[in-house]
Amino acid sequence: MRSALKMRLEVDGHTAAVLDGQSRIANWLYNRLLEEANALRQRFRETRDPDAARVLYTERGLRDRIPALKQEFPFLRTVHSSVLKNAALRLSWAIREHQKGRHGRRVRGVRWPRFRPWKRKWFSLLYDEPWKGYALHGRMLELSLGQSLDPESGRRRRVHVTVRLAEPPPDWFRHDMVRQLRITKEGRIYYAVFTVERVLPDTRPAGRIIAIDPNHRNLGYGVDTEGVATEIANPWFLKALDRRIDEVKSLRDRCRRKSVRVVRPGGSVSWRPSRRWQRLNAVLDELWRVRREQTKVYLRTVANRLYREYDGVFVGDYTPHGGGISTKMRRAMNNQSLIGRFKETLAWTAARSGKVYGVWEERGTTRTCGACGSAAPDGIPPEVRQWTCPDCGTRHIRDENAALNGLARVLAKFGVPCSGHLGGHVAVRTRRAWRFDGLGIREMPRAAGGRVDDHAASRQEIKCGA
Ligand SMILES: [Zn+2]
Repeated sequence: MRSALKMRLEVDGHTAAVLDGQSRIANWLYNRLLEEANALRQRFRETRDPDAARVLYTERGLRDRIPALKQEFPFLRTVHSSVLKNAALRLSWAIREHQKGRHGRRVRGVRWPRFRPWKRKWFSLLYDEPWKGYALHGRMLELSLGQSLDPESGRRRRVHVTVRLAEPPPDWFRHDMVRQLRITKEGRIYYAVFTVERVLPDTRPAGRIIAIDPNHRNLGYGVDTEGVATEIANPWFLKALDRRIDEVKSLRDRCRRKSVRVVRPGGSVSWRPSRRWQRLNAVLDELWRVRREQTKVYLRTVANRLYREYDGVFVGDYTPHGGGISTKMRRAMNNQSLIGRFKETLAWTAARSGKVYGVWEERGTTRTCGACGSAAPDGIPPEVRQWTCPDCGTRHIRDENAALNGLARVLAKFGVPCSGHLGGHVAVRTRRAWRFDGLGIREMPRAAGGRVDDHAASRQEIKCGA
């Protein structure tokens, strides 16, 4: 399996300036080649010149222009050849995707590439071969740049910079897994992203299984084959962050996006946002970065905890509702993408630990009574958190009933026998809640409906049956 290992870098001020310089030059090359590509495109349209097409529409046509450009612009030599090559390949790829769209070889059309403003997006530095142009000694990552000219001897010599990984690589990381390295920058933070290829352990058959019903009030509500119900609380820290993001965004949007008129040498006119807009935008980027980072830690912690207890984790397929968009709905959609990312994290954690991840079909699981199987014809309104089955009189917690039905579907699908469980199906006997406190998960007992007896300090037991 191929995956990406992203690690934060500790970079001092001088090295940051060097890396920014490298990125800027790669970006410059991209724009320069795009200028040539635009001219070639025009020429090809007018003259059908096959030479123009060869440079423009082949995988390596633009890359082969680099040696000549290095002659003309010696500063290109200060950047590693791999990084330069990939700036060209990236442009060629974008052009070819555009062509595919035009000729119907892609489902959706792609715009012809545009000039990249470096200030808006840092151009990443790609070393696309294993350990070529970079080396790792413990936590120290050495990057080769290009060559600098020694003014005394007139000779060129190779320049290196060294950065430090903020954390040591994970235990499973081995040098022979690495395929390529990308250096990126988000906000003010630099990252090393290693593409790694590794063999994963065989998938074991599922033993202890949990089915999780994802919803708005919490990340999910799960019931397992032992009759333990777990409510996984939403990340509380996102609420405060989201409020802050809204504030800054509305401040930014009150500034003028098109404030300063810029005339390029060619005579074309573009607009630059005001200083205040730029400053607020940088704050906003940083807030988004923090949000992404915290969310990732949260999801990873929950996934690890689940797979420590379970051999199989199955999540409802959660179908979103369409319609007009309000702030509240946007929040809900954030939650939707949170669940999407939760699923990705689970799949990845399962693959890594040789366990099983899957989804179950949610349709009808909320309205159907898990005890007798009768279905409420008009469904259960979203605000109703608990309800009583009109046919058999069982009192249900909405999410728990859905998860129980999900678990039954999972067990049926995998042919897992239900022997040992009360009444031939799983019944909930213990409820607990998981809350993420920023460091780890705190488990709490949870009282909700039914008759509740205290048995364990961190769990609550519920008597089964009527
Ligand atoms: Zn019933």
